[in-house]
Amino acid sequence: MEDVIILGTGCAGLTAAIYTGRAQLNPLVLEGSQPGGQLTTTSEVENFPGFPEGIDGYTMMDNLRKQAARFGARYEHAKVDKIELEGDVKKLYAGDKVYEAKTVIVATGARPRLLGIPGEKEMFGGKGVTTCATCDGAFYRDMDVVVVGGGDSAAEEALFLTRFCSKVTLIHRRDELRASQIMADRATSHPKIEMAWNAAPTEVLADEQGFTRAVVVKDTITGEEREIPCKGAFIAIGHIPNTDFVEGVLDRDGDGYIIPEAGSQVKTKHEGFFAAGDCVDHVYRQAITAAGMGCQAAIEAERWLAEQ
Ligand SMILES: Cc1cc2nc3c(=O)[nH]c(=O)nc-3n(C[C@H](O)[C@H](O)[C@H](O)COP(=O)(O)OP(=O)(O)OC[C@H]3O[C@@H](n4cnc5c(N)ncnc54)[C@H](O)[C@@H]3O)c2cc1C
Repeated sequence: MEDVIILGTGCAGLTAAIYTGRAQLNPLVLEGSQPGGQLTTTSEVENFPGFPEGIDGYTMMDNLRKQAARFGARYEHAKVDKIELEGDVKKLYAGDKVYEAKTVIVATGARPRLLGIPGEKEMFGGKGVTTCATCDGAFYRDMDVVVVGGGDSAAEEALFLTRFCSKVTLIHRRDELRASQIMADRATSHPKIEMAWNAAPTEVLADEQGFTRAVVVKDTITGEEREIPCKGAFIAIGHIPNTDFVEGVLDRDGDGYIIPEAGSQVKTKHEGFFAAGDCVDHVYRQAITAAGMGCQAAIEAERWLAEQ
């Protein structure tokens, strides 16, 4: 039986692997289907402390992986589809393989919800389509951008982007925002934000170099299509936490985020079972916060094992 199994090799999982590795716990890390996690889909990370010139997402995650391996972390390509608790033993099922552990750190992240329209995937992460204004807003200084969505996140992203961008068009399929009244008022009254009401995006168009040049929207009432020119398209229609496999074992909220025990960010209701990063955190969703939670989960796991 393993002392610690970590699920996921994003910032949370790999930070937990560094800490548990340095604590001589010889962690086994199961990678899932996206080794390196979400950051491997972005070209430039400028807000992770310690990199004055920025670093590309793939290199950063490769460095974290090597750093954890140096302290004894072992990696396996396995995606867990079910977990079971039998007394103190945690059983993890990945296809026909079964893993057993004393402690488990779930760091399976989340995936941004996308529109599924032509051009979106091709230009995602570095070519104009993104899902994170906090991460990528500064790359669009003095440019026109669009934000797609109608909730609080979309309104917040649009307002944040007004700090950098010359114009922000907020595209929403209805004629009023779902966001809280205060956020909706702030967004709709901002001089740099233009509303595109009753507008459903149907395609992202590329320029000759393959970068975003416009989003095509269809009027949901008249059916008419038009192009909204932009260099950046921020999709803000939510995230889906990768937590289906904890169903029935760990508590999840209505959106699927794991609910930690009261008073802790990373402990769950089951002893020796921890969760960290974007699969728990629906508020900050940043590399540094995920790494911070990975560190907390590792220290808690180490303490819990020491107490047994
Ligand atoms: C395009 C883009 C750009 C971004 N830019 C920045 C930025 O510049 N700065 C910043 O701070 N943040 C940025 N972010 C946000 C940042 O990537 C996330 O906050 C961070 O990656 C969360 O880390 P995590 O470890 O919680 O999860 P993730 O990075 O989502 O990693 C999850 C891991 O879990 C694994 N996994 C999933 N399901 C299973 C399973 N069933 N079994 C085993 N393993 C599983 C996956 O394979 C993956 O390895 C960006 C996000 C995106 C999408």
